[in-house]
Amino acid sequence: MWQVIGQTRAVSLLQRSLESGKLAHAYLLVGPAHVGKMTAAINLAQALNCEASERPCLECASCRKINAASHADVQVISLTQNEDSVEAKLIGIDQIKQIQHDANLPPFEGNHKVFIIAQAELLSIEAANCLLKTLEEPTDRVTFVLLTTDDRLLPETVVSRCQRLELPPLSMAEVESALAGKGIDPERARLLAGLSHGCPGWALSAAADDSLLQQRDEEVKRLLYVIDANYEERLAYVAQMAAQFSQNRGSVYDILNLWLDFWRDLMLVKLGSHDIITNVDLRDELARMAGGYRLAQITSFIKSIQAAAEQLTQNANTRLALEVLMLDIPVKEGGGEENLATQFSVKYG
Ligand SMILES: [Zn+2]
Repeated sequence: MWQVIGQTRAVSLLQRSLESGKLAHAYLLVGPAHVGKMTAAINLAQALNCEASERPCLECASCRKINAASHADVQVISLTQNEDSVEAKLIGIDQIKQIQHDANLPPFEGNHKVFIIAQAELLSIEAANCLLKTLEEPTDRVTFVLLTTDDRLLPETVVSRCQRLELPPLSMAEVESALAGKGIDPERARLLAGLSHGCPGWALSAAADDSLLQQRDEEVKRLLYVIDANYEERLAYVAQMAAQFSQNRGSVYDILNLWLDFWRDLMLVKLGSHDIITNVDLRDELARMAGGYRLAQITSFIKSIQAAAEQLTQNANTRLALEVLMLDIPVKEGGGEENLATQFSVKYG
């Protein structure tokens, strides 16, 4: 009764370990955001504490309590909020010391203690070292499950103490069929599956909450506007993104990913592969625009978007990186638009 969508390899390995009683003391689940890592960890905790014969049953008191985050033996550790309710940047040593203490006590209401550490790549160095000590001295009936999008950001010493399980993105068809199975209409399921990049958790959230798609629609509108905008208007867009970046880096990466998806779709349409585009609701717009660009222009701009994203991850000057990207937007052929590089040289000499 695992609720994880797809991930048969990881799930069957965990299930076999449960049945044979040969569980690792610590697991490291690696995969992109919303792919199902937390669901797998919660299901494992349920299976370890379930009162039924087929575990996890999801029905017994124990399974229900774990699902409601009210089971005394299952804890989720993540970034905490400080007094100003600004999110902390790292998982601190105090949080790990607390679970170190709790791990030494016997299970309180269930059979097995489970500590799930979300975004384990955000453990501070002190917290990771503290955790390492606990992982080096495993206790019976205690399991740690670390979740991360990128295990290269964790100390090798911590990684080597865990059994690593990869949860890769699903295929678009797998997400689409999972959504269809939940009664979502086919056209919407196809759109959400494409936009989810193989992460069903995102698609399910977007199916339940229209604001996620509305935000994306707003960003698409801005993107289409900026493509046809003059240099001043593009600079205003960059200024807004740069300000946003200092507040919330993730949202700017999301926008760049949206740009990447859009231009990849243009390339696919240009190549006649309409059936595998991401933005299925923009089919007509993409078909209309594809005629205005040469393939080489599109592929070159895709590289520019990737380069800008790379520069932002390396803490380059955000504004400059985005301004260069705006200058690189290809000029439509036959439209008689002024070349932006010309505008730029007029402005800056
Ligand atoms: Zn149960």
